[in-house]
Amino acid sequence: MSSRLVLVINCGSSSIKFALRREGVDEPLLSGLAERLYSDNATLNWQAGDSKQQINLADGEHTTAMASLLPLIDEYADQPLSAVGHRVVHGGEHFTCAQVIDDRVITAIRASAPLAPLHNPANLMGIETAMKVFTETPHIVVFDTAFHQSMPPRAYRYALPEELYTQHSVRRYGFHGTSHHYVTNQASLMTGRQPGEGAWLTAHLGNGCSSCAVLDGKSLDTSMGLTPLEGLVMGTRSGDVDPNLHFHLVRTLGWDFLRIEKLLNRESGLLGLSGLSNDMRQLVEARAEGHVGAELAIDVFCYRLARSLAGLAVALPRLDGLIFTGGIGENSALVRELTVSHLGIFGLQIDTQRNDSLPRGQAGTIQMPDSPAILVVPTDEERQIGEESLSLLDSAPTH
Ligand code: ADP
Repeated sequence: MSSRLVLVINCGSSSIKFALRREGVDEPLLSGLAERLYSDNATLNWQAGDSKQQINLADGEHTTAMASLLPLIDEYADQPLSAVGHRVVHGGEHFTCAQVIDDRVITAIRASAPLAPLHNPANLMGIETAMKVFTETPHIVVFDTAFHQSMPPRAYRYALPEELYTQHSVRRYGFHGTSHHYVTNQASLMTGRQPGEGAWLTAHLGNGCSSCAVLDGKSLDTSMGLTPLEGLVMGTRSGDVDPNLHFHLVRTLGWDFLRIEKLLNRESGLLGLSGLSNDMRQLVEARAEGHVGAELAIDVFCYRLARSLAGLAVALPRLDGLIFTGGIGENSALVRELTVSHLGIFGLQIDTQRNDSLPRGQAGTIQMPDSPAILVVPTDEERQIGEESLSLLDSAPTH
C-alpha cells in the first residue's frame, strides 16, 4: 500500500476549502473550494494536476457541498482515507496540539465560540457535517491558537485584573499558528537545520496579518491577542489602536459598540488608510501611479510591521532570520523591501536584486551576504494540518 491519504477541510461560514493529500508529497492530489454557499450562485471548484473543474451547487448548503466531495474523493483516492483533518480557529487554553475529535473536543470548541464568534461555529458545522459524510475515518482537529500555547505568561497576559483571566479567559491567544509553524519548519530546512530549529521572526501577511517570534519550534510571542484584531495593520482591520479611541467615539460621535466593531474590523487597515482598497496588489499599482493614499497605507503597513517585529525580537536570544509569507509576504517585493529598510538595527539587509527577481510562489533567500537570513516561504496550512493529523494518529492510534 502506498503512503497514507488525508483529507483536509477548512470550513468557513459560506465556504469550504479542501485538499486531498498523500503523506510526504508536496502537491495535493486534489484541492478546491466550495464558495458562496447559501447563495444562488454557490459553486464547487477543484483542481487535480493541471485539470480544473467547476460545478454549480444547486442547493448550496454545507451538507450539499460536503456530499459533492464524496464522489471526487472516491475518484482520486486510490485507498481509504487515513484521516480527515479540520482547521478550527480558536481552541482557547484547552489545546496545545492536534486532537482526535470526540464529544469532549466538540464541547471545548463550542465553549471557545464566544472568543471567535465568526469562525468557531462555522468550523464546528464543517466538522459535524463531515463526520456524517466520512463515517469510517478518524476526524482530527488542528487549532490556529495551539501553536502559541507555548507563550510564557509575560507574553500572553494583559495588564488587567487577574479575575478577567482566571474567570473569563481574557488573555492573548494568537492566531495563524499553523502557518507560523509551517514556515519556520521550512526555513530551518532551507538553512541546513533540523525542522523548527533556530530563532526566527515570521510575518504572515494575507488579508489578516500577524507576526511571531519562534525559538526551536516554539512560539514565544505573537502580535495577535484575544482576537485577530490586535497587532498589525491588515486589509480592513485596524490592528492596534489606543483603547481610549472607543470611549472617544462614544462621547464625541455617539457611536455604539456595533458601529465601533464594524469600523475597526471592516473599514480600517489598508482600506481605511488608502481610501481606495484593502487589496495590497491594487495599492502597489496605485502607488506607482502616484496615489497618495496608497503610498501612505503601504508606508504605515510596513513601518508598523517592522515595529512589531522589532518588539518581538526581545523574546529571542539571537536572530537567525526573518521569514515573509502569506499572499503579500510571498508576492510583494515592495513590502519586503520597505519593511526590512526599518530593521537595519538588527543587521538585516535585503538584496534588492534577488528580492525583485524571486519568482512568485517560490521559496528563496533574499538577504545580503552579511545579513541574518531573510526568507520568502510560501505557506501551506493544509499541508501542515495534514501532517499534524497523521502524526497524531501515529502517537495515539484510534483503531
Ligand atoms: P488570505 O488571508 O485571505 O488567505 P492571502 O494570503 O491570499 O489572503 O493574501 C491576500 C493578499 O495578498 C491581498 O492583499 C492581495 O492583494 C495580496 N497579493 C497577492 N498577490 C500580490 C502581489 N503580486 N503583490 C502585492 N500583493 C499581492
